[in-house]
Amino acid sequence: MTDIAPLDDGSELCVACGICCDGILFSSVTVTDPSEAERVRALRIPVHVVDERHFFDQPCSALGDKGCSIYTERPLLCHAYRCLLLKQVDAGTMPLADAVRTVEEARRREVEIRALMNLDVATDGTPLVQLYRQFLLDNADQPDCRESPESRELIKRFEHHQVELAKNFEPAMITV
Ligand code: SF4
Ligand code: SF4
Repeated sequence: MTDIAPLDDGSELCVACGICCDGILFSSVTVTDPSEAERVRALRIPVHVVDERHFFDQPCSALGDKGCSIYTERPLLCHAYRCLLLKQVDAGTMPLADAVRTVEEARRREVEIRALMNLDVATDGTPLVQLYRQFLLDNADQPDCRESPESRELIKRFEHHQVELAKNFEPAMITV
């Protein structure tokens, strides 16, 4: 997440979403300058500095069960970020209800993928991307496990989820 757009309030859609915070679109968020870095640290988000770039990692430590836990004070770049969906709502080319439905569909896919991992959203708040990376690590040296029908279905569903997220939210998203 590095682009800065005009600041205004995408809260109606965003508070029900948080997809740009859970690590599936971005691996980190740039912090605009050292004074902003201090403000973000005071919000208890660890900020790193590499080659003079200030950033914090995703999945974001401020992401709670109900979206951003520091929404009104969120970092400048979070405030400024607009995914494709939000840009369309802002431009009046997509009704808010359709955008909410797209977020709900993404969340439903996530629930289905978690179910394939035998996990329940309500009982495990670990971001999906972390769980999926762990699944890949656990099976890295066991190719037979990745070939089981259950694993193949999980990999197929996750990859489809990424394609849909890139199409609807962020074409420049990371791939796992
Ligand atoms: S992914 Fe888009 S709609 Fe969802 S919280 Fe981020 S900017 Fe808002
Ligand atoms: S600070 Fe809030 S809006 Fe920004 S990445 Fe973290 S959870 Fe998302």
